[in-house]
Amino acid sequence: MTLNLDAPETRLALKAVRRAADLAGQVQKELVLASSTATITKDDLSPVTVADYAVQALVAHQLLQAFPNDDLVAEEGTASLRAAECGPTLDAVVSFVGRHLAGAARENVCEWIDRGGATPNGRFWVLDPIDGTKGFLRGDQYAIALALIENGVVQLGVLGCPNLNTDGTPNVGGVGALAVAVRGQGSWIAPLNQPEQWTPLRVSATATLAESRILRSFETRHTNVMQIENFMRVNGLTQPPVLMDSQVKYVVLAAGRGEVLFRLPPPDKLNYREKIWDQAAGLIVVEEAGGRVTDARGAALDFKHGRALERNSGVIASNGVLHTAVVQALSALVG
Ligand code: AMP
Ligand code: MG
Repeated sequence: MTLNLDAPETRLALKAVRRAADLAGQVQKELVLASSTATITKDDLSPVTVADYAVQALVAHQLLQAFPNDDLVAEEGTASLRAAECGPTLDAVVSFVGRHLAGAARENVCEWIDRGGATPNGRFWVLDPIDGTKGFLRGDQYAIALALIENGVVQLGVLGCPNLNTDGTPNVGGVGALAVAVRGQGSWIAPLNQPEQWTPLRVSATATLAESRILRSFETRHTNVMQIENFMRVNGLTQPPVLMDSQVKYVVLAAGRGEVLFRLPPPDKLNYREKIWDQAAGLIVVEEAGGRVTDARGAALDFKHGRALERNSGVIASNGVLHTAVVQALSALVG
């Protein structure tokens, strides 16, 4: 398989995510790691807020320049950012964006961010500017996730993973990795600072459920830990699960360093619906590496129903070989 790096969408997505990862790294270094995390909450002038907005502005601007007719569905909006008391946050956002884009100012930065408010339809881009915000604050794993969806099918996904090696091992403070998948062209990974060095990603060939390694959220409130532990016990899995924030988990699975990824609705939010920006890029990276992604019951993820996966519950991603066995074993457990 070969990756066509001349396709305008692929080229732009790679460039935009690389720049965004640069920006996110600057915020993490200058605001997160330099301050006491004890004082940080998501609702005030927090580094994560600054990084979320700044990355969304930067990527939205580049998409607008390259594909002015394409919609963008992204996590953030400026309703609260425009309030007077958020002036200092907005100024910080403008200042970080300004390092990458000449002419950044309060008004145009807000306009770029608000391009992300589109309703999914036809062909559109999907962006999670900082996926894994809690990992970002911990100085741990996070990802910049950008995908292109056409008529409900994810065609392109890029994941910027600043704290991951290209072999899928974690490396906080290293050069980071850039993963890309294009429908029919495979999944590939390169160092964030050397995007010409692409190597293919391939899922593991492990075909025995008991020998498989589980990947799940680091944050226990984002999944159903008890169900996952039961699954492991009943099916004789003995390798310790890998706990990791963000869609970096999908890259680790695509790199063959785990076989089964679970996102199960948490017990206190059984009706939780996954946001499309938390899944689209990760899904194609896994599928093009030879794996499979479905909801917890084995149904395809349906990206045609708004900003969340309204028709699906939970997510199972796997190396493919084990998928049917995992879906069956989970339904035997939960009914
Ligand atoms: P992870 O780092 O894998 O735990 O995933 C991070 C994503 O989980 C965030 O981007 C949120 O959109 C999403 N999220 C937030 N709350 C929940 C929840 N209660 N259940 C599942 N996912 C959630
Ligand atoms: Mg997210």
